[in-house]
Amino acid sequence: MLNGIDPNLIVRGGRISTDEFNEVKGIKDVFAIGDIASMECKKYPKGHPQVAQVAMQQANTLGKNLLRDLNSKTRKPFVYGDYGSMATIGRSKAVADLPGFHFNGFFAWLFWLFVHLMNILGVKNKFFIFVDWMWYYLSFDQSLRLVIKQKSPDENIEADKL
Ligand SMILES: Cc1cc2nc3c(=O)[nH]c(=O)nc-3n(C[C@H](O)[C@H](O)[C@H](O)COP(=O)(O)OP(=O)(O)OC[C@H]3O[C@@H](n4cnc5c(N)ncnc54)[C@H](O)[C@@H]3O)c2cc1C
Repeated sequence: MLNGIDPNLIVRGGRISTDEFNEVKGIKDVFAIGDIASMECKKYPKGHPQVAQVAMQQANTLGKNLLRDLNSKTRKPFVYGDYGSMATIGRSKAVADLPGFHFNGFFAWLFWLFVHLMNILGVKNKFFIFVDWMWYYLSFDQSLRLVIKQKSPDENIEADKL
């Protein structure tokens, strides 16, 4: 927990309670966005879902509100636009659940790749991530690496005593 924040403002899941402008309740000019923020509203009484879309949209709204502050304009409250969900579930397989439109399989997977690539910042990053993905796809290389260190016999004895 961050020092200086009233423990009563830390709610379910260790999130910090904010108002509709992502300002931490009762603390002027201190903001929390994304997973760490809990902005309770009528539609989301327990706070918004902890997904990337919420974090990105709150960052966007907050950035604009900070500019409004600088120009002595009124802040606009955050309103979440839910554009749907997607998940990839393996090579060439994905599901897309968009408002009023659901599809799956290869085209959903291509769409998943496209949307995620477009959301990566910078052309250079997009390019290198695209090359990485192509390499993993073509080489069947798995990105997951598990490094398991063998315990020494002494460590095993100590662990057995616990
Ligand atoms: C396994 C997994 C799968 C997910 N899959 C999806 C998905 O498919 N779709 C989706 O929309 N969302 C998904 N999410 C959720 C999504 O990742 C989060 O909602 C999103 O990243 C929230 O963004 P954020 O900026 O709030 O937090 P984060 O992305 O967690 O960024 C917080 C950053 O702050 C840094 N930080 C933490 N403490 C400190 C400190 N004291 N000082 C400085 N820096 C600090 C962290 O290192 C981190 O870089 C997934 C999450 C997980 C864990």
